[in-house]
Order: sequence, then C-alpha cells, then structure tokens
Amino acid sequence: MKTIQGVGVSAGIAIGEVRVLDTADHAVERRVVDDPQAEVERFRAARDEAVAQLKQLRDKTAAEFGEGKAELFDTHQLMLQDPDYVESIEDLIAQSKVNAEFAVNSTAEQFAAMFAAMDNSYMQARAADVKDVSRRVINVLEGKRGGAAEDEDGGESRIILAEDLAPSETVQLDRAKVLGFVTAKGSANSHTAILARTMGLPAIIGIGDAFNPDDDGHTAVIDGTSGLVFVDPDEKTLAEYQGKKAKYEEHLRLLQELKGKPTETKSGQKVRLYANIGRPSDVAAVLANDAEGIGLFRSEFLYLESEDYPTEEFQFQAYKEVAQKMGDRLVVIRTLDIGADKQVGYFNLEHEANPALGYRAIRICLTRPEIFKVQLRALLRASVYGNIAIMLPMITSVEEVRDAKKILEEVKEELRGEHIDFNEHIQVGIMIETPASVIMADELAAEVDFFSIGTNDLTQYTLACDRQNPNLGRFADPHSPAVLRMIKMATEAAHRHGIWCGICGELGADLSLTDIFLEIGLDELSVSPTSVLPLRNAIRNH
Ligand code: PEP
Ligand code: MG
Repeated sequence: MKTIQGVGVSAGIAIGEVRVLDTADHAVERRVVDDPQAEVERFRAARDEAVAQLKQLRDKTAAEFGEGKAELFDTHQLMLQDPDYVESIEDLIAQSKVNAEFAVNSTAEQFAAMFAAMDNSYMQARAADVKDVSRRVINVLEGKRGGAAEDEDGGESRIILAEDLAPSETVQLDRAKVLGFVTAKGSANSHTAILARTMGLPAIIGIGDAFNPDDDGHTAVIDGTSGLVFVDPDEKTLAEYQGKKAKYEEHLRLLQELKGKPTETKSGQKVRLYANIGRPSDVAAVLANDAEGIGLFRSEFLYLESEDYPTEEFQFQAYKEVAQKMGDRLVVIRTLDIGADKQVGYFNLEHEANPALGYRAIRICLTRPEIFKVQLRALLRASVYGNIAIMLPMITSVEEVRDAKKILEEVKEELRGEHIDFNEHIQVGIMIETPASVIMADELAAEVDFFSIGTNDLTQYTLACDRQNPNLGRFADPHSPAVLRMIKMATEAAHRHGIWCGICGELGADLSLTDIFLEIGLDELSVSPTSVLPLRNAIRNH
C-alpha cells in the first residue's frame, strides 16, 4: 500500500480503479511557414472551431449544473476573442513566420505567466484558464478533439489521476463514470476545485511528485476531507474507508432532510442561518442549501473580476439580480473591501510594507468618495427589488461610520432629486473585525442597525498573526480565548443597544464552537453555502 498526502478540496470518499488522464502539456513543435497569411487564416478557423466547441460545452454545463457554472465558458470564449491575445498570436505568425500551434502555445505561456505573477489569487487562478483554452485551439489545429477528458472511452467508474485538470476537463468528466479525482498540481481557489465541490466529487490536489502514471489500473481510496490517497490499500484500510464512506453518505442523506426545517435548538433558541457569496451566480448554491438569507456578499469580487471600475449600471444589475432571487430574505451587501490581499490594478494603490494594516476597505471609500458613491447609488437603486442591507468593512471608529453615513445621505438626496426610488429604511450595519471596533462597540452600536463579526480579520488583528501566513501554526489559533471574548463583548454591546449581531467569518462554520456561539447569544451565522446544512444540524442538536 502507498499512502500519499495531498490537499483535500472537495469532501467525500471514493474507492475504485485509477485511470490516469494524459493532460500533460506536450511540447509544441516550431516550424517555419512559407505563407504566414495562410497560417493566420488557419489559426482563425481553429479559433472559431474552439469557440463553437466552448458554446456547446457551455450549454451542456448550463443544463447539468446551472447558468452560474456555465458562465465560466462564456469567459473562455471571450478569452479566445480577446484582442490582445489574438493580436499577439497573429503578430508572432506574421513576424516570425512560425506555425499557428507554436504561436498559440507561446502566447498562452506568456499570458499565463502574467496572470500567475499577479498579486491576487483569483487572477492567479486564471493562468490555468488561458492555458486550457489555448490547448483547445492547438488540439483543433492538430486535428484532435478539445480536451483530454473528451477522449473518455466509457467502461467502469474510475478515480481520475492527472497532472492537472482544467476547468473544462472537469465539467466534461462524466459523473456517472467518475468517482473523484486527484491531481499533482492545482490550487484550492481554482475553478476546478470549485466545480468539484459543486459536482459533489471528492477531490484532492497538490500531490506533486507522488503522481505516478504507473498507478493506472490500480485500486485506490481517496478522502477529499483529509486529502489522503491510498494506492493498493491493504484490507484493513479498505474496510475502514468502506465504513467511512457509508457513514458520510448517510450523513449527506440526513442533511438533505433538514431542508425547510427551522434553525433552532432543542430549547427553542432560534438562530438565523445565512450564507456568504462572492458573485450573483453563487445564489444558486445558497438556495440549493436552503440558507435563510445572505449574510455577506463580498462585493469586491465585482471589482476584482473587472478590468476597470465597474459602472453603476453593472453593479446595480448584479445587486438587483441577487435581491430578486432571494425574494424577501435579507441580503447583506458589504461595500468595497479592496486592498490587503485583494489588490486591483486599476485602483493604482501604492505598494505598502504592511498592506493588511494599510489603505484598504472603508479607508479607500472615505478618501475616494467618487468611487464609494457609485456603489452606494447602485445599492440604493437595487434596494427596491428585495431586502438589501448595507454593511461597512474594517471600521475602527465612530467617526468613520458617521462619515460613511453622511456620504450615504448625500447619495440618497441625489436620488430623491432625480425621483429614483430606493428603500428609505435600508439597514446599515458594520463589520466587527478590528479590536478597536470591539472596544468601541457600545458607541458604534448606537450608530448602526447591526453588527457582523469578521472573525478572519478579527483573529488576524487580535493575535497579530497575518492571515495569509501558513506557518504561524498554533499562534494563529482562532479558538483563542482572546478572540472568543471579543465576540462575546461585541454581541453583548449590540444587545444592550437593541441591535442584532452575527458572524460572517469562517469561524461561524466551526462546529466545535457552535455551542459557545449559542451560549453567547449570536443572532445570525453566515457561512459558505455547503456549510449551511451541517450547521443547521449542529444547532438543532444543541
Ligand atoms: C472576515 O474578515 O472575517 C470577513 C468575513 O471578511 P473577509 O474574509 O472578506 O476579509
Ligand atoms: Mg475581513
């Protein structure tokens, strides 16, 4: 038996035969061509064919996984039509008289390196996308089908083992024939990992050098929670994991029965169980997991995914879509929290020695009100389409809240002047994610309608532990009594002033703390959509 430790990115256990997929980047030959113009035409025809394939893939994905997941293939089609990308390929063919395959491959590598060098992890993950779409064009040029997974030959269900899996290859995996997958490379933030979670496929990434194509045909056990892979498991391991698999499946089945049931403890204490989202397409997962509202919409994703400041209209449509889909359920939209680990090129932020302690979130909004006002106008306009609340991030003082509310009032006045409807009573709350906001919680509670505790940052700032640093181990302990006492202090201050208090940081989903949160008396917990039902289960068992 061989035991491999990878990174589990999608929960579940799979047991079965391994099938190695050949997804490695093959060397692309460089040839000199006599007629560069004819070669450019060859490229254009292949590119058009690849776009047509992606359209089909888009429709297949929309039918199987919903519109949200299909959007990725709209992005892929746009990537192939991007003027910079196309120009780079065509210039290379024309100037260096090289074959189209080589020009596509070189451009893909150059663009992927550019994405990989960016500061934010979302953009870094796009490096895999540009390679994926380019490989499709090269395959067409070479007279093959699109991605490796399309060559699947049927047969028994298998565990897929690959160097790497592109998002398009992941959705093409036939769910009836694939038990789960393991890759040598990959990142937890990639669309491949996100798709695996949506598809409910156990998945492990990052096994690195332990990847061995000779494992093809061998039996394996994979555990997407612990990240463990066992090749040729011994009888004891096999029996242990068969038991765990049955238990996990039973657990999932029981969780489904909790849909529509109230989130309340045995003694009748009610907690509002909401979900966190980053983009409108995530609402599908919120509804599928029966969340009672959205406790945190990280609006900065709209900025991170844009190449320039998103317009009022673009933001309005996004907020309206979420509000409408959620009906009368509350949707808490956090205003722009850019800076620190979320850098956006077009903001032209100066390099800082300590970005987590620097110019971010509300600090940007208050010093660049022209940007803040665009977002507030969009939020207010969308507020008539559902039940929207506004939440301000990274608050450290009463003055910041008053200044932000003053800007909000100015925007409201503008809209009134333009006879544009909005919800006059829109709730305004703040994130409690700095020690200063906890210390000032009584004064802050008097200014706002609710608190939502951002435990990710609150832990970082309370314990002086960079949340991006994976090497701090026990020092970055979110269970630290200091953090828990901060949560209690903020909640009690909120209740003294008659407002509600929730948690929207990752700690809210930590089932080992659910009992403590209930005792503290938190009114709301907002967690990732897939954590909603496990948390409802824990609360109902309290
Ligand atoms: C937090 O800090 O806990 C939080 C929810 O915000 P973010 O993770 O986006 O900083
Ligand atoms: Mg935060």
